[in-house]
Amino acid sequence: MSIRLRLTLWYTALLGATLILFSVIVYSALSTNLWAQVEQDAARQAGEVASALTQQLQFDILVIRNPRSTMQFPDIDLFASASGVQIVDFDGMIVKRSSNLGAMSVPDYRMALDAVQHGENYNYYTGGAGEPELLVYSVPLVVNDSIVGAVQVIKNVDSVRSTLSQVSRYLILGTGLSLVLAAIVGAFLARRTLAPLNAITRTAGSITQTGDLSRRLNVQEEQSEIGRLSTTFNAMLAQIQQLFDTQQQLIADVSHELRTPLTTVQGNVQLLQRMLSATESSSGRSLTSEMTEQVPEILAEVEIESMRMNTLINDLLLLAQADSGALSIQKEPVEMDTLLLEIYLQAQRLVDQMRTAGALTIRLGNEDQAMVLGDRERLRQLLLNLVDNAIKYTPDGGVITLDLKHEKEWVVISVTDTGLGISPENLEQIFARFYRTDKARSRELGGSGLGLSIVKWIAEAHGGTIDVTSTLSKGSVFTLRLPAYSGETAGV
Ligand code: ADP
Repeated sequence: MSIRLRLTLWYTALLGATLILFSVIVYSALSTNLWAQVEQDAARQAGEVASALTQQLQFDILVIRNPRSTMQFPDIDLFASASGVQIVDFDGMIVKRSSNLGAMSVPDYRMALDAVQHGENYNYYTGGAGEPELLVYSVPLVVNDSIVGAVQVIKNVDSVRSTLSQVSRYLILGTGLSLVLAAIVGAFLARRTLAPLNAITRTAGSITQTGDLSRRLNVQEEQSEIGRLSTTFNAMLAQIQQLFDTQQQLIADVSHELRTPLTTVQGNVQLLQRMLSATESSSGRSLTSEMTEQVPEILAEVEIESMRMNTLINDLLLLAQADSGALSIQKEPVEMDTLLLEIYLQAQRLVDQMRTAGALTIRLGNEDQAMVLGDRERLRQLLLNLVDNAIKYTPDGGVITLDLKHEKEWVVISVTDTGLGISPENLEQIFARFYRTDKARSRELGGSGLGLSIVKWIAEAHGGTIDVTSTLSKGSVFTLRLPAYSGETAGV
């Protein structure tokens, strides 16, 4: 069942229940009131007639002995107005009746005698179904302190009955009409309320069909529920689009990164094959001396490119695992001062491998003792990436300083270089995957643009941060902040 239909039905049912309850209350109150009014009138009239007769018949001994045997009763037409009056004795005989009753028979009029004989008033309704409906109200007739019969006031209550049935017809008609109106208005309101939802469904449907993630919903009434839903939907779309774009970009970057080393490897293998076939087709069976000199060079290049691809794939795998949450960080106490010392020594070796002797100076600055809770190997990888970058992007004669400070709850490690520096517009982006300020230079130096992404992930996985400040042509400072571990073994 559609929400629209459900809303309409609920709306109509609720209004219907309210109207029916209201009608029942109005009808019962009116009916109780009208009947009480009629009975009160009859009681008052019967009381008046009875007391007038009591006075007039006082000391009339004949009436007392046998009310029927006398014609002493005054003319009771004086008392009858809209209603009729009759006097009945305890044998059930009608002693006198007002002329406005004519020959009209009053069914069951004897029914009241028993109660009246005991001094009680008695009323009942009779007639109806084609006959006039009557209220018969009986009170005792007292003469000289004894009850000699009953005074009965007979009221035609057809007008009350017809008033009530008219009111009930109006109420039923009114309720019915209101329900029809409520159903129409309810359906209209439900349609209006749900119209923006339909728009959302249509847009979502067309996005699914066309795959156009750049489309957005038109947000109206931002603060309303639908407005908030549209805003959330748009934000979700933007996120999906960003993820999609990033994924596309990543695939493009990876393909691009793999293509260059693969082409080099392929080219070198083809060169080797050509050399071999040239040797076989010539009469001599061994390689020429020129060729012999080239082979190690070719193989070295193949090895370098293979290693480059290996590093790239490992880095990619690490980031993919980090993204999916499959990579967990071992948490054990790590002495950061010892680790930094190891990095320092490794950096010296790296400089010796990568650069001409004495081209760069590596310095160990402040070195507080400090511990963190983390994964020693990942932290080593983080620091090595920073140092590796510093070595790559600092020209000869530069200085690289490693520094460790224990600042209250933080262990702050900085890697400072006097290298190329990074321009402010690039500074925000260098932690993004495959981002390199100078692609050619980075590649030449063996970089793939993933190093700092890994640094950022490892820092954050340890509850830390990585920041950079830099000035072009002057140098950069990468600052790593990790939560200090103050376990028992932590020596400060
Ligand atoms: P890469 O493999 O290219 O070094 P990274 O993610 O480690 O990738 O670094 C991204 C980019 O940030 C580098 O290409 C380089 O342009 C810049 N960069 C990183 N470290 C430094 C530094 N110490 N000095 C100058 N530029 C740097």
